[in-house]
Amino acid sequence: MSEPSPAGNFRPADSPSYESILQCMRCGFCLAVCPTYALTNRERSSPRGRAALARAVAEGRLEFTPAVGEEAYFCLDCKACTTACPAGVRVGTIMEFCRSQEQGFRPPSLPAGALRDFILKRMLPSPALMEGSLLPLRLYQRLGVQWAVRRFGINRFLPGALAKMEGILPALEKPLRLELPEVIPAQGKKRGRVAFFLGCAMSLVFPEVSRQTARILSQQGFEVVTPREVKCCGAPHLAEGDRDTARRLALTNLDLFLGLEADAIVTDCAGCGCALKEYEELLEGHADHGRLGRFRAKVRDVSEFLAGAGIRTEELRPVPMSVTYHEPCHLVHGQGLSGPPRHLIGKIPGVELREMKESNWCCGMAGSFALKEREASRKLLERKLAHVRATGADALVTANPGCHLQLAWGVRELGMKQPVLHVVELFGRALPA
Ligand code: SF4
Ligand code: SF4
Repeated sequence: MSEPSPAGNFRPADSPSYESILQCMRCGFCLAVCPTYALTNRERSSPRGRAALARAVAEGRLEFTPAVGEEAYFCLDCKACTTACPAGVRVGTIMEFCRSQEQGFRPPSLPAGALRDFILKRMLPSPALMEGSLLPLRLYQRLGVQWAVRRFGINRFLPGALAKMEGILPALEKPLRLELPEVIPAQGKKRGRVAFFLGCAMSLVFPEVSRQTARILSQQGFEVVTPREVKCCGAPHLAEGDRDTARRLALTNLDLFLGLEADAIVTDCAGCGCALKEYEELLEGHADHGRLGRFRAKVRDVSEFLAGAGIRTEELRPVPMSVTYHEPCHLVHGQGLSGPPRHLIGKIPGVELREMKESNWCCGMAGSFALKEREASRKLLERKLAHVRATGADALVTANPGCHLQLAWGVRELGMKQPVLHVVELFGRALPA
């Protein structure tokens, strides 16, 4: 008789640890904060239910059924349950492992698998390929085709996921990676040297945000080093269950950024920051502990870094407007950062921060969730925007490209007037010209 697997009915490679699942004591404190439970009122779509499913698989009482795989992908990985959980159970992370399992148990069909592999294993690891792939989209916008598609409602006839992708596509500029100087000197009295982790989405879709980040860091007295060899942080791979490629990318970034000898590694993307802070766990057994610890100790979200360093305010100009702040899940729950972005906003003369209800609830983007679970995603977005509207604020501020895309699309769809800004774009308005 063969020995039972220590992973139960999970495949041994990349299975969630039994100890992490066992921590759940079924108290139910997480139920009130879980967006998918709020949407469905279904136990299996709650953190407690998902932990119970994983436990049953780990104990060999349940096969890894399609329903387990579905729940892994229906989880937003928003990590709100971990913030609420007295035992710190990381259901989102357990579900990330379950996504890897799903890929192993039920690989996608040949064409879908080939497309997935191309995106995850070829395109995302290659900044040049990603930049090249945006060229047709930039032409689509430059030649006025996008205007016509939207003006004449042609996008109504596109398949659902494609229509959503078209809808959230913002005006594209030239990617920032090759344009941003590799070294930007500190202004005034130098306070240190930071390595800027330029995320793919920021470079490609929101270059102005990262331009402002580099400008602010320099104005605040830091030399900014932005390596062009930077790779994707691996967050999309973890979300899609490709832990091998995520590890490869993480190892490259680890070597690159430790080699820069900077005081801190700063990012303006909440998703990247969260992934970088989890390299220690992802690379356990694949890289030296001391190096992983040194890397982890340096990673900072830009608001966390500036709040920690102390913000120079002498030269700031007033920005007379009211704003409300949507907290990205990967900042508030993934990194425990709620105060620093508000601190940054509070330092801008003239800005009034109007808090919205449920500011720390997911906006419904959650990576590919917004494309695959469009109805659920839309309901979460409408709930969020109702709270935004109730504040009457002039602008909506956030700190993550995924949220930024989703919120800007929702604002347009609902005919609201508020512009959506990253917190550094708002802060950038206060800098001297
Ligand atoms: S995940 Fe945490 S909060 Fe939710 S039931 Fe389990 S122990 Fe309680
Ligand atoms: S990560 Fe979010 S969606 Fe997933 S179980 Fe936790 S609260 Fe629910």
